[in-house]
Amino acid sequence: MTRLIIESAVLSGLALAGLMIAAGANAYVVQLLFSTALAVTLAVGWNLIGGMAGYVSFGQVGFFGLGAYAGALAMLKWALPWPLAIVLAACLAAFLAWPLGRIMLRLSGIFFALGMFGLARVLQIIVNALEITGGPMGTSIPTAEGPGATAMAMVALATGAVALMMAISRSRFGLRLAALRDDAIAAAAAGVDTSRVKVAAFCLSAGLAAAAGALYARNVGYIDPASGFAGTIELQTVLMVLAGGIGTVWGPVLGGIVISLLSTALWARFPTEQQIILGALTLLLAVAMPGGLASIPPLSTWLRRPMLGAFTPGAATPAPAPAAVAADHAGAVLACRGLGKRFGGVVAVAGVDLAVAPGEILAVIGPNGAGKSTLFDMISAFSAPTSGEIRFRGALCAAMPPHLLARAGIARTFQTSRLFPHLTVFETVLLAAASRQHRFRDAQQAASALLAATDLADDAERFPDALPPGRQRLLEIARALALAPAVLLLDEAMAGMTAAEIARVHAVLRAATRRGTAIVAIEHVLPAIASLAARAQVLDNGQTIAEGPPAQVLSDPMVIEAYLGGDEMALAS
Ligand code: ADP
Ligand code: MG
Repeated sequence: MTRLIIESAVLSGLALAGLMIAAGANAYVVQLLFSTALAVTLAVGWNLIGGMAGYVSFGQVGFFGLGAYAGALAMLKWALPWPLAIVLAACLAAFLAWPLGRIMLRLSGIFFALGMFGLARVLQIIVNALEITGGPMGTSIPTAEGPGATAMAMVALATGAVALMMAISRSRFGLRLAALRDDAIAAAAAGVDTSRVKVAAFCLSAGLAAAAGALYARNVGYIDPASGFAGTIELQTVLMVLAGGIGTVWGPVLGGIVISLLSTALWARFPTEQQIILGALTLLLAVAMPGGLASIPPLSTWLRRPMLGAFTPGAATPAPAPAAVAADHAGAVLACRGLGKRFGGVVAVAGVDLAVAPGEILAVIGPNGAGKSTLFDMISAFSAPTSGEIRFRGALCAAMPPHLLARAGIARTFQTSRLFPHLTVFETVLLAAASRQHRFRDAQQAASALLAATDLADDAERFPDALPPGRQRLLEIARALALAPAVLLLDEAMAGMTAAEIARVHAVLRAATRRGTAIVAIEHVLPAIASLAARAQVLDNGQTIAEGPPAQVLSDPMVIEAYLGGDEMALAS
């Protein structure tokens, strides 16, 4: 809370100072203010998609140019008042960014960055060829009476952009963005609609760049393809974000202000060498301080992402209410029939039937490479079966994406740990709880209750890498349980746990089954699960080779045969 007050005070102070300069200073200083506020707006907007969502873009300048032209044409052709033209430009860019984002954000890493670069060039070529935009010669627009009004508007826009980031960093949307950047697959498994979240960030980011572009055009009174889509704008924006601190709320503000002022000061003294000095300084900064200015010690603690909600001891709500568990006519909540998966020539799963009833615990065991994890990937919709069908509560769930399936009640853990490095233990569980609870407050209560139940409350504010491996696994189970699942899929969740930790997990799982949750637990070795499961199913070479009570399955000659040659210990221990 105090953190929010301090941040708001700093932002208000900056905005007030900007407005006062815009109102009173000489034209040179006002222009400097305009370009600094422009830099901050662009940096903050770029950081939303490039830093907070983790999709580095080399083409945000495309939206800047689009906004500049849209604003200019709205003022010229429709004679719209300039503030309205700017709003229109922002809306247009955000609107166009929706379908573009749905396509472009399928790419990742360097492919997305280059795709965006290409997009900006395409826009530039289109604008260059059109008559209405004035072609290569560009177009003039009525200039502002004086620079004061546009500078004030730019300061207001920058302030609004920062306020928006402050709000996002404290919201469910911000939590989802942080999770998406850390691990998109784990986020989807926690019920996050990753595609929607990143497209929303992309649209907001495009809108900000376009508003800045429209104001820029109004300020200069002229726009042409070379200045509207200048690669240097893109480059400088990225440098400012990197210098300030990528992914943080205040880093881009810091970077925008410092680099703008620095480059102006350098330009005044060394007009010819300015670019070289700036480039060298940036290189130096990147090497010496990869986290940017925001990573300098006292700043780094002040500027860290604010923690979202806190563990409330003795939260009144018990563990989240289980999803109403409905079974099909045969009594199974989850039923797979003839499920198969081939990867090219490799048949990973070959016609497996699997069914589990509400409140039941089924152990799935088998040697390495038997197809166990592939089976889970298909059930949780991360991979499409090549044959067979999966029914959840009696209904086919072929076309459901993973996050919807997670919300509907099929939760899973992963064989290799998939935790979010930048989310605290509490936030990790909160993320999943917020996928089920409509009210964020209810999700916080549910997360607190679940942490208490899983004995993770003491670690609520820690980050996953500060936990011992066994507790990391426990956190993954807690994250899955926060979805209040009807079916819980555990992939070797107890591997590497101490006996005490296994006992704790067993207690947690038993409590879940009492609320009706069905559990399918993959274990490489049976002892970890034997005392818990009433039934075991053994896979080998993608097929079920035995099924029944654990003790009976273990003495099955087929099973012994499958485990022979390196894995005898697994059965004996
Ligand atoms: P388990 O979890 O029982 O150890 P997996 O389901 O991970 O087994 O793997 C089953 C088989 O499928 C293995 O032979 C593995 O090499 C193969 N496999 C799994 N995933 C892929 C993939 N993405 N591409 C190709 N082969 C795969
Ligand atoms: Mg596996």
